[in-house]
Amino acid sequence: MDPKVEKFMSRIKAKNPAEAEFHQAVHEVAESLIPFIEENPRYKHARVLERIAEPERVILFRVPWINDKGEVEINRGYRIEMNSAIGPYKGGLRFHPTVNLGILKFLAFEQVFKNSLTTLPMGGGKGGSDFDPKGKSDNEVMRFCQSFMTELCRHIGPDTDVPAGDIGVGGREIGYLFGQYKRIKNEFTGVLTGKGLQWGGSLIRPEATGYGAVYFAEEMLNSRGDSLKGKVAAVSGSGNVAQFTVQKLTEMGGKALTMSDSAGCIYDPEGIDAEKLAWIMELKNIRRGRIKEYAEKFGCEYFEGKRPWHVKCDVAFPSATENEIRKEDAETLIKNGCKVISEGANMPSTPDAIEVYLRSRILYGPGKAANAGGVAVSGLEMTQNSMRLPWSREEVDSRLHTIMKNIHQTCVDYGSETDGYVNYVNGANIGGFVKVADAMLAQGVV
Ligand code: NDP
Repeated sequence: MDPKVEKFMSRIKAKNPAEAEFHQAVHEVAESLIPFIEENPRYKHARVLERIAEPERVILFRVPWINDKGEVEINRGYRIEMNSAIGPYKGGLRFHPTVNLGILKFLAFEQVFKNSLTTLPMGGGKGGSDFDPKGKSDNEVMRFCQSFMTELCRHIGPDTDVPAGDIGVGGREIGYLFGQYKRIKNEFTGVLTGKGLQWGGSLIRPEATGYGAVYFAEEMLNSRGDSLKGKVAAVSGSGNVAQFTVQKLTEMGGKALTMSDSAGCIYDPEGIDAEKLAWIMELKNIRRGRIKEYAEKFGCEYFEGKRPWHVKCDVAFPSATENEIRKEDAETLIKNGCKVISEGANMPSTPDAIEVYLRSRILYGPGKAANAGGVAVSGLEMTQNSMRLPWSREEVDSRLHTIMKNIHQTCVDYGSETDGYVNYVNGANIGGFVKVADAMLAQGVV
């Protein structure tokens, strides 16, 4: 390891003990940025990277609520307000039992770079709770969301901090959170994104992350004179990002062979077409069932407890969670001919898996670039809320497409190596950093 990176990381680890995911995310960025900062000393003297790695504010709170049996339950709520140099804090809320401070700090840190890449004026934040919506009734989810927002509402606002969804937080949860905010504050404002269409939401917001990851893959392939047409793909997850990845991929002439959930994955060699995807959407979004039922319904293979990386594919779209592709998975993917990885999830590849991709010179789009479409359309939702004027589906989709092309170009500009290979990791890290860092320099030591 570069001794400067090592020294920087030893300070981060000492200051933020037991936050493995945060260390991982900062380390990846530091490896790209420290050589860049050495060449650009203005950032070094102002200690910009050290400041970016320290949240502006961390809010941690108790969330008490009453379950259907009349018992008191207690969860922990968080909001990490990471960086506001280029706009209000912006980033999703995650409700999942694995949520802790380190995971949310890694997500908030990534969000700062991602939001900058979109070219929209958004700072970075993230939040959530260790609450598990799985197996809870609608009433329980509502009571939890109301209690969560009763505290959170004093820290957020349309010009301060604008949360959105993430794992475990979809349209239902955003509705309950928004309702409680409005009731307490007596304000109808764009304080959350991912809202329903009838009450301030944007067309294409649910689709945006998945669509964006597919547009990004297409851009990467186009740069090598190729396209998604006729390509077969392994997709993980079966939630919001995975569903719309499969939808757009199919529309663009590709074929998704797999989807998964935390219990296992299905492999459908015929491909998950529009009709089968509609069935999955009903299964996951309404019945809230398990992906295993797909294998029973359509008579294909189901791999209990497995992720889909053993399947032969041209493209992989990890769209479930962090660290879901390990070194051995990366090696298997490449051995089986996979040439493109476009990350819908945040940090789904471990550092040694990323090393395998870069060594193999495949097209690797890291999450902070490839999945930025979600927050980009959240930014467009904020614009529409400010104008009090909704845009058409075509307008939003075309803006999303343009933003993904621009992010790709930024990665090419900052990540091209002398032999022409594009290191999208460096491209996204440096491209995302420059705008935030310059704003921080202009605003003084704050
Ligand atoms: P959802 O909650 O809609 O879906 C998550 C999916 O991933 C489910 O299929 C879930 O299975 C699976 N999953 C979750 N945790 C694990 C785990 N530990 N192991 C295996 N599978 C798991 O979330 P999203 O689709 O919104 O988010 C997916 C990823 O995309 C996350 O990394 C998120 O941070 C990222 N992302 C999301 C954005 C958005 O706009 N929603 C924007 C940018 C990134 P199960 O149901 O069994 O838990």
